[in-house]
Amino acid sequence: MAGLTLRNVTKSFGKVRVIKSVDLAIDDGDFVVFVGPSGCGKSTLLRVISGLEDLSGGEIRIGERLVNEVQAAKRGVAMVFQSYALYPHLTVEQNMGFGLKVRKIRPAEIKSRVAEAAATLKLDDYLGRYPRELSGGQRQRVAIGRAIVSAPEIFLFDEPLSNLDAELRVHMRAEIAALHQRLGNTMIYVTHDQIEAMTLADKIVVLRDGRIEQVGSPRELYARPNNAFVAQFIGSPKMNVADVAPMTEILRSSGCDLTGVASVGMRPEHLAVTAPREGTFTGMVALSEYTGAGSLLHVEVEQAGTFLVLQNGPESAETGKEIGLTIEPGNIHRFNAEGIRLD
Ligand code: ADP
Ligand code: MG
Repeated sequence: MAGLTLRNVTKSFGKVRVIKSVDLAIDDGDFVVFVGPSGCGKSTLLRVISGLEDLSGGEIRIGERLVNEVQAAKRGVAMVFQSYALYPHLTVEQNMGFGLKVRKIRPAEIKSRVAEAAATLKLDDYLGRYPRELSGGQRQRVAIGRAIVSAPEIFLFDEPLSNLDAELRVHMRAEIAALHQRLGNTMIYVTHDQIEAMTLADKIVVLRDGRIEQVGSPRELYARPNNAFVAQFIGSPKMNVADVAPMTEILRSSGCDLTGVASVGMRPEHLAVTAPREGTFTGMVALSEYTGAGSLLHVEVEQAGTFLVLQNGPESAETGKEIGLTIEPGNIHRFNAEGIRLD
């Protein structure tokens, strides 16, 4: 097993620079998640690490080994894709063993490695089936099994659960977490689903437009986002970020230092509903969405815009009603004109 180091990694397609100088150190055994909006370069970065794409500049090391010039099959990485990419005319057992067969591994050893991976993934009863005879979740497990039998140092996953329905995604997410615990390998996992990122990651890497915006544990990114982009990308429903100008007096009077502050961020779960005029802010409920455990309120705060507010419990504020909102000053995130966190 091994960690991974990226130094000044760049990747261009023709004249278009897609990865713009990425530096990143991943410890051996870490579960690292790349998140970011569609098109920000997550898949490209993963493919460069895997060797499926050449890099345009910089260094990639797996453990101590410089792998820039090492071909994909010799890097000791295995990749699992969103499209399972199974051979339709091969059984589960043959699909899982295919890579080993190509590498001329002895049939007896292939059989035992496939059986071991199948046991890990609870696929023992399906070894004789063809992909068309499997559910989506089972197919994705076969794809993961194929990665396991190749005994890689590092697993790379590119949105492996995106094709599954919501319930199965939650189930497979837990299976992947359990797999990481059992195998202990370094895993890099790409997703645009920030719940997946939060639940799976030791470390999240937030990418935007080919650059790293922030690296940190889920708790660090949630509690102390470096900038307004990360603040709004991590957390669901997303953080309210509003211009400070219309709220200056109210925020000052509640003890918030606004030196150099251009915008403030407040998470929906940190805003509490009070009686009208008793909160720090007053707003009008434009929409109240009951979710069972609580309600998601869309509250129009005078001049400041619409705020999302998570109201816990069975009572929901009614649409059209005036309410008050309060927040602990310590839960207010402050950003300067460039969107950079202050404090
Ligand atoms: P993500 O996985 O974050 O959605 P990608 O890494 O797939 O993003 O793509 C990043 C950018 O690189 C996109 O603008 C995409 O159009 C471009 N891109 C990806 N692959 C190629 C390619 N083979 N040729 C040209 N442009 C590409
Ligand atoms: Mg992608």
